[in-house]
Amino acid sequence: MRFLKILIPLVLLLCCFSCRTATSNNIHYWMEDNGKIKVLTSIEMLNDLVIAIGKGHVDSIALIVGNLDPHSYELVKGDDEKFARADLVVCNGLGLEHGASLMQTINSHKNCLLVGEEIFNKAPEKIIIINKTVDPHIWTDVSLWSESIDFIVERLSKLDPMHAEEFKQNGSLLKKDLLDTHQDLLNEMKAIPSEKRYLVTSHDAFNYFAKAYLSERNEGDWHSRFSAPEGLAPDGQLSSSNIKSIIEHLKKFNIHVLFPESNVSQSSIKKIIHAGNQMGLELTIATEPLYGDAMIVEEGMGGKNYINMMKHNAETIKKYLNL
Ligand SMILES: [Zn+2]
Repeated sequence: MRFLKILIPLVLLLCCFSCRTATSNNIHYWMEDNGKIKVLTSIEMLNDLVIAIGKGHVDSIALIVGNLDPHSYELVKGDDEKFARADLVVCNGLGLEHGASLMQTINSHKNCLLVGEEIFNKAPEKIIIINKTVDPHIWTDVSLWSESIDFIVERLSKLDPMHAEEFKQNGSLLKKDLLDTHQDLLNEMKAIPSEKRYLVTSHDAFNYFAKAYLSERNEGDWHSRFSAPEGLAPDGQLSSSNIKSIIEHLKKFNIHVLFPESNVSQSSIKKIIHAGNQMGLELTIATEPLYGDAMIVEEGMGGKNYINMMKHNAETIKKYLNL
C-alpha cells in the first residue's frame, strides 16, 4: 500500500513530464539523444498529426510557429541544426514552403516526407490548381488533411518498426477524430442558407474549405464560394483591378462581411471595405480573425491544435455569415 502511495504520484509525474515534453517546442529537450524518433515538421498543423500518431515514441517540433508566414519563411540561426538532427522532416509541399533557403534544405534532407505531394500522386483530382498554380492549403479540408495520416504512419514505422502497430492504431484513432470533425463542419456550414455561404478573406487559403464545406454537393461553380484579394501566398500587393474585381464579386453575391486572417495584414481587406463603402455597399470586417496558415495562439479556445483551429474557423464563419 505504502509502495503504491509513492508509485502512483511518481507515475503521474512522469506522464505529465512526457506529455509536456512531447508537445512543447522545447528545442533543448528535442535535441537530446533519448532513443525517440526526432521529427521536424514545417507547419504546426503537421506537428499536431505527428504528435498524435507518434505519441511517446516520437519527439516532434514545428519549424514555423506562431504567426510566421510559411510561404515566405527563410531559415534563421539554429534551423540548420534542427534539420541535421531530424530523423524525419515532414512538410506540406505543393509549393507551400517556397522560401529559397527552406526549400533547398528540405530538398536536400536525407528523409523528407511531403504529404501534399503524396496525396497529389495518389489522387491528383483532389488537388486544386488555380491559374496553373497548385493551391497548397490542403489542411482547410479536414477530410483531405486526414489523408496525410497513412503516409506519416508509414514513415514512422520504417524508422521504428517495433512500434509500427501502435502508430497504426494511433493513426486510425486520429483519422476517426478528423473525419468526425469533418462531418461536424459540414453540418455547421450547411446550417447557413446557401445564398449566404460566400467567404471572402485576406489571401487564397480557403479554396479547399469552400469546395468541401460551402458549396452545394457537386456544385460546378464552387470557386465563386470563396474569394480573396491576395493570391495563394499573401504578398500585400493590391492593384486597382484586384479591388475592382473583388467589389464586383461582393455585389454579385450580395456579400457584406470580409474576414481577416490571424497572420496576414488587414490592409488589403480594409482598402476593399473603404472602396466598397464609398460606392454605397454595406461592408464590415469580422472582428475575430480566421486561422488560415497559422494555428490558434490565443488562450481560451480549448487549446492550440488543428481540430480547434478548424472548429474556430467554422464557428466564426457561421456567426458572421448568418448575421
Ligand atoms: Zn497561405
